[in-house]
Amino acid sequence: MQERGIHSMKELIGIAQPHPITDFMTLSPIKKISSFNYELCSGCGNCARCPYLAIQLDERGLPHSDPALCIGCSICAKKCFTGAISMRVRNPDELALLIEN
Ligand code: SF4
Ligand code: SF4
Repeated sequence: MQERGIHSMKELIGIAQPHPITDFMTLSPIKKISSFNYELCSGCGNCARCPYLAIQLDERGLPHSDPALCIGCSICAKKCFTGAISMRVRNPDELALLIEN
C-alpha cells in the first residue's frame, strides 16, 4: 500500500471504480432507457437476463426494452459483446411509463 501511496484502508474504498464517479445525490432522477442497434445485434439473448426483467425477445430473437420496467442501470449495455445496446433519453410516452415506488 505504501508503495502505491495509499496510507489507510479508508483510501482503498472505491479505488477500483471508474473516475470520476457521479455522486449519488447528483444522479439524475430521470432514468434513461436501453436502446438497440439491430444491425449490430447477434440475437444471442444475453441482454434478456436483465435483472429487472425489462428486456423481452421477439419472435425473431431481437430484444426490446419495456419502458415501464427498465430503470436505466445500463448493465445490459455494458455486457452486450457486440456493442448493440446504448442508453438514450426517454421520449415523453416512455417517461410517463416509468413508475418508481
Ligand atoms: S446482448 Fe447484445 S447481441 Fe445479444 S441479443 Fe442483446 S443486444 Fe443483441
Ligand atoms: S438498463 Fe438495466 S434495467 Fe434497463 S434493460 Fe438494461 S439491464 Fe435492464
